[in-house]
Amino acid sequence: MRERFKEYLEQLQSKNLLRFLRTVESDQGPEIIFEGKKYLNFSSNNYLGLANHPYLKQAAIEAVEKYGTGSGASRLITGSMSLHEELEKKIAAFKGTESALIFNSGTQANMGAIPALVGENDFIFSDELNHASLIDGYRLSKAKIEVYRHGDVGHVGALLAAPPNKGVASSAPTQISPIDGRSQGSPLRIIITDSIFSMDGDIAPLPEIMALAKKYDCLVYVDEAHGTGVFGKSGKGVVEHFGIDPKNHRLIQMGTLGKALGSFGAYIAGSKDLIDFLINKARTFIFSTSLPPAVLAASKAAIELIEKDPSHREKLWENVRYFSRVGAQFIAPTGMMNHAPTSPILPIIIGDAKKTMEVAQQLFEHGIWATGIRPPTVPEGTSRIRLTIMASHTKEHLDRCLEAINKLFNK
Ligand SMILES: *Cc1c(COP(=O)(O)O)cnc(C)c1O
Repeated sequence: MRERFKEYLEQLQSKNLLRFLRTVESDQGPEIIFEGKKYLNFSSNNYLGLANHPYLKQAAIEAVEKYGTGSGASRLITGSMSLHEELEKKIAAFKGTESALIFNSGTQANMGAIPALVGENDFIFSDELNHASLIDGYRLSKAKIEVYRHGDVGHVGALLAAPPNKGVASSAPTQISPIDGRSQGSPLRIIITDSIFSMDGDIAPLPEIMALAKKYDCLVYVDEAHGTGVFGKSGKGVVEHFGIDPKNHRLIQMGTLGKALGSFGAYIAGSKDLIDFLINKARTFIFSTSLPPAVLAASKAAIELIEKDPSHREKLWENVRYFSRVGAQFIAPTGMMNHAPTSPILPIIIGDAKKTMEVAQQLFEHGIWATGIRPPTVPEGTSRIRLTIMASHTKEHLDRCLEAINKLFNK
């Protein structure tokens, strides 16, 4: 058995794909400590800098005092506490939906909700760069999967228009399923997409996707892991950014609480029927101990903060604009930036995995923590340095990172 483990690891090593952990000895601020030394943090998804914010910390401490450390059971047993209900109400109000449901993480939300929504007679239309947890959700669902080219609305439209998907509906007799209330005769079709692509930082063409959903009568499941708290006039996400009606009955919004919101967990927001359906059908919801009080209170505090104080979001975007304006001067000419910066995620595409890890190591030696990203997280030949900007970066932090990159790429 040990041979088997070793062989696998050696194979990875020989392809420069071996991964290892680095232990951070501080909080998740713009400067993090590793082996007693300070590094500038350019890899965190803590976009708004809330993960160590006093307001969230205080809320978590108070929740522990009042409700203790654990929830003791899954939601359907005794683990549905006041804070779960308060947070779900808060999320629904924030997102402008009828209802919301907390999941223990984004991965659990996607791996629970997708197989609950679609089964073997149904169809999933998926962007080729969707997050791994969405892909794992499809695999569990047994639905037929049509992968479309990244962000290519024309391609989704062509897939939706083409047989065999089209013909199936009319041939089978309509029967209402006792389990999910859906008409068994008509396969469900669902378009699934990240709103902001996690490794590329570009934005999904959501308005066009919603139009296709209307035209072809399907649902849209949008993963706002990187949109929530960052996009839209009031930080509600990409759905708000595009002015899409959050109550649109075709729309299912998923998002996470562990990135810009500085806490942990995830949610699905939509109609009350959808939420009641998921409570009864999503296995990762049903069969897992619910989130503990401290985490719930921190998430709720994060949304309160985002609602009453736009300064974190404004500072984040100011930083993104500054960094990309200065950085573009020397990164863009190298052809290593694959799109104009649209989000706090700024990938520098290097291609080769080995070269990418060398660049990451050189940046590390300059005191910059900027993780190299390799397959299978990104497609073969597109290894990259994925930089992320935070509201808590000072101009001096940004300049130091820019200088280090400039030195490396223009030597
Ligand atoms: C991070 C991420 C997830 C997973 O969320 P966790 O709460 O970290 O499990 C899901 N989807 C996307 C697009 C992500 O970036």
